[in-house]
Amino acid sequence: MPLGKHGKALTDWLLTTDPHQRIRMAMAGSAGLLVLGCMVLMNLMAMAGLMRQDWTIWWTLATGCGPVAAILLIRSGRTRHWRDPALTQFQIRYALACTAAAYVLAGQARGGVPVILSLILVFGIFGMSAHQIRWNMAYALLLFSAAFGLVAWLDEPGRIPALEAANAAITVMVLLGSTFLAMRLQRIRAHVARQKLELTRAMALIQQLATHDELTGLPNRRHMMALLEAEHLRSQRDGRVWMAALLDVDLFKQVNDTHGHAAGDQVLQAFAATVRAAVRGTDVLARWGGEEFLLLLHDTEPSAARPVLERVREAVRAQDVVVQGQRVGITVSIGVAARTPGKSVVQLLEQADQALYQAKSQGRNRVVEAAPPPAPAATAVSGIAVF
Ligand code: GH3
Ligand code: MG
Ligand code: MG
Repeated sequence: MPLGKHGKALTDWLLTTDPHQRIRMAMAGSAGLLVLGCMVLMNLMAMAGLMRQDWTIWWTLATGCGPVAAILLIRSGRTRHWRDPALTQFQIRYALACTAAAYVLAGQARGGVPVILSLILVFGIFGMSAHQIRWNMAYALLLFSAAFGLVAWLDEPGRIPALEAANAAITVMVLLGSTFLAMRLQRIRAHVARQKLELTRAMALIQQLATHDELTGLPNRRHMMALLEAEHLRSQRDGRVWMAALLDVDLFKQVNDTHGHAAGDQVLQAFAATVRAAVRGTDVLARWGGEEFLLLLHDTEPSAARPVLERVREAVRAQDVVVQGQRVGITVSIGVAARTPGKSVVQLLEQADQALYQAKSQGRNRVVEAAPPPAPAATAVSGIAVF
């Protein structure tokens, strides 16, 4: 049922609007209600003459203090930075002590205490580590041993030793059983958490493999195509000019033939690193296929692209890759085109490819820019210009 405006305002005030605090407050509130139920029950039994009323009043006051203190502390926000911000351990240990006291006070009615005990132990399962669960069991065993001893020592009139022994045995069994279940659940939770982490890592790896080239670590062709389309849409909105450059390693087949495929791989890795180092961090270099790479120069006019690409070309020429004691030198040919209004990504790539072809046919180791579209009045002879 929807809460309504006033209901929401009230729950926000009671539980706060912080989702973590709300869970803590809701848990402490439910535990408080459980304690309240036990207090009412104990007092009813006292009124029915099953236990001493004066002791029951003191027990009620002491038992009520724990949940009230926990709720106030959590609500105040003080516990937010504590190691146990939900005060789970404190609440459980306090409740265990009060239950052990109730066991002593409840007289003939103490047979109901183990049920409450199991509820308490199960309550904190999700907030406790295996270590804490074990310590709580030891703590509860200690408290209840004292309670069993006290019951025997008080030796109330009408006490039946065999019934007391059965009560004690059931209490210990509940304690051990609840702890065992809590530990099992804790293990399952830890297993699920581990699996979730592994799944997240696997997803990240799959994402990386689907979008990046394994050899160079650069974005792959599919991913680069998506980046180009996104850049294209952006530039359609704000009219900014950007450049796409195709880089092809010259005579790379000879590198493989002379030094072997593994050496060729090493040269490609070095090439990728050299080009990345020569451009801005925001520019994107992708492996387009084989020994061909695509460089996206954001926010770049053709006049500004030239020095950048010349720097890239020179850096590649000067790059030193030593394979098995031998220096392997390479050069690169670059074809570049500018994204201008009305030009699609496919057209842009075609132009860059044509410019690259020109760079190759003009002798390699050079940068060629696809000529801008001819002005309406001019009569263009060639679509290609050399820097
Ligand atoms: P050009 O200057 O005309 O581009 O000549 P090229 O030899 O570079 O061009 P070609 O297309 O004839 O040869 C490209 C070579 O690149 C052939 C191919 O085996 C090699 N190659 C492509 N991908 C890889 C790779 O991942 N590793 C290695 N080692 N070689 C590769
Ligand atoms: Mg080549
Ligand atoms: Mg090629």
